[in-house]
Amino acid sequence: MIKLKSLTNSFFRALLIMSGAFLLLPSCSKTLSSSSYVVFGTECRMTLPISSHTKYYNILSDMEKKFSYRIETSEIALVNKNAGEKPIEVSDDVFYVVREALRFSKETDGAFNPLLLPIIKLWGWDTGNYRVPSDEELRNALELTRVSDVVLDEQNKTIFLTKKGMGLDLGGIMKGYACDVLYKEMMSDGITEGIINLGGNIFVFGDREYRVAIQEPYAERGNVINSVFVRDKSVVTSGGYERGFTSDGKYYHHIIDPKTGESAKEIYKSVTVVCPSSTVADVYSTAIFVKGEELRGKFLSLYPDSDIITYP
Ligand code: AMP
Ligand code: MG
Repeated sequence: MIKLKSLTNSFFRALLIMSGAFLLLPSCSKTLSSSSYVVFGTECRMTLPISSHTKYYNILSDMEKKFSYRIETSEIALVNKNAGEKPIEVSDDVFYVVREALRFSKETDGAFNPLLLPIIKLWGWDTGNYRVPSDEELRNALELTRVSDVVLDEQNKTIFLTKKGMGLDLGGIMKGYACDVLYKEMMSDGITEGIINLGGNIFVFGDREYRVAIQEPYAERGNVINSVFVRDKSVVTSGGYERGFTSDGKYYHHIIDPKTGESAKEIYKSVTVVCPSSTVADVYSTAIFVKGEELRGKFLSLYPDSDIITYP
């Protein structure tokens, strides 16, 4: 069970270090060195007991080059470009993440869906040129988001999106997966303590607890509603407040309900998942944000070493 504490003390506030959607405070400081770098379109920060972090940023950059649908030469972009035409051979890790993402889609009863790119494009979440699509546009795009229309060939490591217009967007799982990859790499390098923060997707490890503070939704950055004390775990938050636009007085955000193609109803303002696997935390923070209570019980029974904090 994790410990929850409200942060009311202004002394603690002053000590908090900004890190994306989250704020972070090591409970005591050994000689850890921090660095930051922009990957996956977000600020990535590492705090480690070694001075050069280059190796790990290179791993992140290499991943981005393979996984980002925005990079024309990436494997995912190639799979998307060949939708409705032919299967594309991909590297082992791309195959693995896509297979996992599709499996999570089933496990979350469709609340998590890595095939929402046609919907994302309609709303302009990919470019920042936002607009509200028509019902008909959404209906047509939803036809292109079915997990059963993806063919994975384990033997040949190929991915085939069988309908033209289909597209993979791994934005709801990638940062979590990247955190897990980095953690494994660091462990095998003999690094036994550190903080990985990929745009608010946090993983802390070592022989002491860290306090990870949770951002208050729709409040100024740095306003803390809660904090969790964790060790060897990931903390990931999803919330509609992170990205959105207003049209005709209505607020739209970037987390899509795969059933409707629209911004998910804000059952909660934010969902924080604490879990030993950052991939799982990333997927389920998004999925529980979409589906609410229904998924909460299932998640806790599947991942007993985990916790969920919702706001309000
Ligand atoms: P997160 O910030 O982890 O909650 O993920 C949100 C990002 O994942 C969005 O910016 C989209 O790229 C993508 N996404 C949005 N809705 C979903 C969903 N229901 N399932 C999977 N990915 C999604
Ligand atoms: Mg997520």
